[in-house]
Amino acid sequence: MFQTVANFERIGEENAFAVLARATDLARQGRDIINLGIGQPDFKTPDHIVEAAVKALRDGEHGYTPATGILPLREAVAADVQKRTGAPVSPDNVVIVPGGKVTMFAAILMFGEVGADILYPDPGFPIYRSMIEFTGANPVAVPIREENGFAFSAEETLALITPKTRLIILNSPANPTGGVTPKSEIDKLVAGLAKWPDVAILSDEIYGQMIYDGLEHTSLLSYPEIRDRVILLDGWSKTYAMTGWRMGYSVWPTALVDKVRKLAVNCWSCVNAPAQFAGLAALTGPQDAVHAMVAEFDRRRAVVVEEMNKLSGITCATPKGAFYAFPNIKATGWKAKPLASALLEQAGVATIGGPDFGIYGEGYIRLSYANSTENIRKAIARIEEFLQANIKAA
Ligand code: PLP
Repeated sequence: MFQTVANFERIGEENAFAVLARATDLARQGRDIINLGIGQPDFKTPDHIVEAAVKALRDGEHGYTPATGILPLREAVAADVQKRTGAPVSPDNVVIVPGGKVTMFAAILMFGEVGADILYPDPGFPIYRSMIEFTGANPVAVPIREENGFAFSAEETLALITPKTRLIILNSPANPTGGVTPKSEIDKLVAGLAKWPDVAILSDEIYGQMIYDGLEHTSLLSYPEIRDRVILLDGWSKTYAMTGWRMGYSVWPTALVDKVRKLAVNCWSCVNAPAQFAGLAALTGPQDAVHAMVAEFDRRRAVVVEEMNKLSGITCATPKGAFYAFPNIKATGWKAKPLASALLEQAGVATIGGPDFGIYGEGYIRLSYANSTENIRKAIARIEEFLQANIKAA
C-alpha cells in the first residue's frame, strides 16, 4: 500500500467549511437554517468589478499572465497599499495570489521546518496552526484574551520569542474575535522586535478596511524599521465581497519575493487572468460599495452586541473590526463546540465553536454578522429560546 509523507497526517482544516456543509445539508432537508457561521460578506461583488472581468474575457484576456500578476494590477496594489499605510511600495514586491490564504501558505512554507518555532494567535484563523504543523515547525500559541479587548499583547508575544523563532503571525482586525490591536501595542511590539532581527513577520491585514468606532487601521508595513521583514497579507475577498474569485495579494521583502515567484511557477502559474482585471477595477474604481458595506456591518454589529447581551449566561464584547462577534458563553454552563452543534441541529442557527480557532477559544462562539439584520434578530431569538430550555448550571 502506498504511504503519504507524515506532513499530511498533521495537516488540519477549517471547520467553518464543515459547518457550512452541514447547514446546507439541513437546509436541503427542508430545515430553516440561519447561517451566522460563514466568514464571507453577504453582498454581491459590485457590478463594475464583475463587468471588468467579463470585458477582459471578451477582449481575449484569458491566457497565462506573469506568475506574480499583471503589472497594472501590481502597480494598483502598490499605490493602494502606499496610500493606506504610508509605506513606499514597489510593484516589484507585490505578488498577486489566488486568495489571501495562499500568502499564508507561502510564508509558512518558507519559514517552517522541524526545529523552528512559529508564533500564531490563538484563537485565530485555523489555517495558521494547520500549516505550521504541516511543515513540522513547532506552533507557539500567542493567547488572545478578552480582558485585553481581544488585542494581542506585545509583552506576551515578545516573551514567547526564542532563538528558534523564525516567524510571527499577527492578525488585526482579527478573525474570529473582531479584536483590533491598538497602535500603542503595535509600537511596543515593533520596538521589542529590534532585539530579534532574524524574526520575520506575517501580518494578516485582510480585514484592514473593516474597522469601526472611528478607529484607524495600523499596518505593520507602516514601520520603516521592520519593513525589510514584513510580509503583508491582504486581498479582495472581504473588502470587495469577492471570496469566490480567489484573489489575494501580498507585499514581500525584496529578499523573499523571488522565492514566492518560483513557488507560483511551481504551483499555480498565475491567478485567473480575468479575475485580475476585476481586481484592478476594484482598486481603481469607485469605493462607495465598500463604504456602504462597512456601514451596514457597523449597524448590524450594534444589533448583535445589544441583542446577545440580553441573553441569559452570555456577555458579548463589542468587536472593533471585521464582521464577527465572539460572545462569552461560559456562564451558560455549555462547552462551546457542543453548544454550536446543538444550536445548529436543534435551533437552526449556524455558529462556530471557539475551540475551532484554538484552545483559547473555549468558552466562546463566533457569530458572523454577514447576514441581514432581520435574520440576525431571528437567530438570536432562537438562541435565547434554546438557552431558556437548555441552560446548564454554571
Ligand atoms: N485571513 C483571515 C484572518 C481570514 O479570516 C481569511 C478568510 O476567512 C483569510 C485570511 C483568507 O482569505 P481568502 O478567502 O482570500 O483566502
